[in-house]
Amino acid sequence: MFDLLLRQARLVDDTVRDIALKDGKIAAVGDIDDLARKTVDLRGECYVSAGWIDSHVHCYPKSPIYHDEPDSIGIATGVTTVIDAGSTGADDIDDFYSLTREAVTDVYALLNISRVGLIAQNELANMANIDGEAVNQAIKRHPDFIVGLKARMSSSVVGENGITPLVRAKAMQQENGGLPLMVHIGNNPPDLDDIAERLTAGDIITHCYNGKPNRILTPGGELRASVTRAIQRGVRLDVGHGTASLSFAVARRAISAGILPHTISSDIYCRNRINGPVYSLANVMSKFLAIGMSLPQVIECVTANAADGLNLKTKGRLAPGFDADLTLFTLQRQPTVLVDAENDSLQAEELLVPLAAVRAGKGYMTEQGSAKYAFDF
Ligand SMILES: [Zn+2]
Repeated sequence: MFDLLLRQARLVDDTVRDIALKDGKIAAVGDIDDLARKTVDLRGECYVSAGWIDSHVHCYPKSPIYHDEPDSIGIATGVTTVIDAGSTGADDIDDFYSLTREAVTDVYALLNISRVGLIAQNELANMANIDGEAVNQAIKRHPDFIVGLKARMSSSVVGENGITPLVRAKAMQQENGGLPLMVHIGNNPPDLDDIAERLTAGDIITHCYNGKPNRILTPGGELRASVTRAIQRGVRLDVGHGTASLSFAVARRAISAGILPHTISSDIYCRNRINGPVYSLANVMSKFLAIGMSLPQVIECVTANAADGLNLKTKGRLAPGFDADLTLFTLQRQPTVLVDAENDSLQAEELLVPLAAVRAGKGYMTEQGSAKYAFDF
């Protein structure tokens, strides 16, 4: 007998299937006759995908500058897994790990290569804080929690150090089995060409559609040759919307030239969640629908692509044996003006609305869902 059976779930390819869960895993997907302890009939009226994964968030509640609660940006908005992108370094990762054990949302971390993490804006300005041995020890203590490294390579963060922190990050990556390295790009120096040329397969460029001078497009609107070569080597592009890092104009131009994101992520924390322009991962996903990506493409960016990019081997797919993490959502016809980080606007006709989520086999209503549906989990 299954623990939970969702009948007539609409998948993003518009087929309708039953999904059975048992012992925290997906047990079967298809036409299912067996009984379950609990059955919820969705009547084909709402979509179900693998649980959404936000590849770039900030949820260390004690960070003085970028903080939030994991469940406020996670399960309450239909996101079942979040990856904190460098809020903590080796000094605070133990504390962060223990705090996140309380959360319903599954939380992982990209370890900041600076041992002090985000206690200030310029965590890479003092090379003494980039301590390879401290990084190695932190990864040894938390091999399942730390899924990669984070290096913020923009002028306000690195100070006078230029490209040197990235050179150190690549060496740390090599010492630790080649785990994913997420590199934030922003204002130069260092120049994006110098960054891109150093990245290798599996590295992730976040804030990929930022509108700053260090953007991925040349002044003529073409993709920089260094970024083209990086993508050909297997470097991945992550959105990382954030307060200052998504330009609709850059995203539209890049996507129309075939430069799609591998992952759509929010770079959310309490201030840009409450005051915008981020609000939620669903809001960021709706922006990419409005730009012209298809629903299956957008969902792929927060499920299979996100899991692949961060080596989350039991997540991201609606298939037997994967974690019983699901997101239930609708595509609601609701003309809305959406705003990017440059204060440019875009007319959207439809919005993604998360209604409920299942995390490790257990159902939860979302903030937006409770008002409309009452799934009996
Ligand atoms: Zn960030």
